[in-house]
Amino acid sequence: MSELNGMMAPEGAAAQAGAEQGFDYLIVGAGFAGSVLAERLATQLGLRVLIVDKRSHIGGNAYDRHDDAGILIHPYGPHIFHTNSADVFDYLSQFTQWRPYQHRVLANVDGQLVPMPINLDTVNKLYGLKLTSFELEAFFESVAEKREQIRTSEDVVVAKVGRDLYNKFFRGYTRKQWGLDPSELDASVTARVPTRTNRDDRYFADTFQAMPLHGYTRMFEKMLAHPNIKIMLNTDYREIQHCIPWKHMVYTGPIDTFFDCKYGKLPYRSLEFRHETLPQEQFQEVGTVNYPNDYGYTRISEFKHITGQKHPHTSVVYEYPRAEGDPYYPVPQPQNAELYKRYEAEAELLPHVTFVGRLATYRYYNMDQVVAQSLATFKKLRQRHEADAAVPAGLFSSAGATRAAAGAGLASPNATSASTTA
Ligand SMILES: Cc1cc2nc3c(=O)[nH]c(=O)nc-3n(C[C@H](O)[C@H](O)[C@H](O)COP(=O)(O)OP(=O)(O)OC[C@H]3O[C@@H](n4cnc5c(N)ncnc54)[C@H](O)[C@@H]3O)c2cc1C
Repeated sequence: MSELNGMMAPEGAAAQAGAEQGFDYLIVGAGFAGSVLAERLATQLGLRVLIVDKRSHIGGNAYDRHDDAGILIHPYGPHIFHTNSADVFDYLSQFTQWRPYQHRVLANVDGQLVPMPINLDTVNKLYGLKLTSFELEAFFESVAEKREQIRTSEDVVVAKVGRDLYNKFFRGYTRKQWGLDPSELDASVTARVPTRTNRDDRYFADTFQAMPLHGYTRMFEKMLAHPNIKIMLNTDYREIQHCIPWKHMVYTGPIDTFFDCKYGKLPYRSLEFRHETLPQEQFQEVGTVNYPNDYGYTRISEFKHITGQKHPHTSVVYEYPRAEGDPYYPVPQPQNAELYKRYEAEAELLPHVTFVGRLATYRYYNMDQVVAQSLATFKKLRQRHEADAAVPAGLFSSAGATRAAAGAGLASPNATSASTTA
């Protein structure tokens, strides 16, 4: 079934539009990466874009919707927007108003709920102390383990806060989340979580912290509401890549599946989400409570804290890490980075396919980083477009010639390479 701009459309309507004129861009994936590029290409360059997603909705993992009780939920887990980039924030502000929101997380440790990231109150509450900020610095120094080199996620934490806090807050959580011990994971994973000596209990310290006032999906709808953008849902790009003419592809799915895992599967960590609606106004004190050491889930998040919605009932989500399932988190280990590089080298040989986003570049990116990456990618595509447009009529640059052939419905080199490796 196909849908155009979110509206039910007769089967094949997008294909018809494409068959008449062809699309300048086929964009695979309607998450942040695909939607930012669709919006830029259509509004800034006037290009015709077909955006395809195999899911039944736009927004990728940031998609939100109202559940049966009418509570706005994030089906793929809580998504909190935060960034230090004014450019990213200004860009998205064209499509949404914002609700200021600072995320707070508590960790359930030794039967107590204490602030996470670890701060002055965390340590005082946990150990029954009355340290000041200065004394906490000295405390951390006294318990920190010396490390010549910070290589792994374990090194990062024990070198900062010592073994006991590492065991209480990080070891169990990381083992649950990744199915690996922190000593087996790149430093980047735990380096993302700060440690504070003051009482700041905000989860993020970014300059801009806010949620789209009417939700992410409404924001995506506005981004994609342009006559040059056609949307086809419930469709794997492989089903249509040879029937609808296009000149250039932007691919935001997993890079290994694009190449049919020819060098092997890139490992991803998955999650199972258990959503519940409860007949009570509030379930927990803050947006998210972490369970580093007990239970099969890593955390419980309550949406009304995050969205600000008022409702007599409340909806929560439990996250159970899984080895199999939808690819959510690239696993940051040196051997995976090596494997990714082999796919990246293949990708660079395809001038008509651009790989962008969290899965296509196999990076653990937040939403704002994906937006920044997509805006930077757009600049490069625009330069290329302008260079092609500068070639006098009747003459083609080599790239322009092959893309024109692809647009005329001929087998495009990019489509061919995608299918021969499929
Ligand atoms: C549980 C969880 C919580 C998160 N929380 C936060 C947070 O609080 N703050 C934050 O900033 N970031 C958060 N993130 C990260 C955020 O989800 C990503 O940065 C962002 O969604 C990446 O956008 P993307 O477009 O690269 O990928 P995606 O959103 O994954 O979009 C890719 C799209 O491509 C589609 N696709 C793939 N293959 C095909 C195919 N063959 N044919 C057609 N379509 C295809 C997929 O269906 C998908 O919709 C979280 C991620 C997870 C998993």
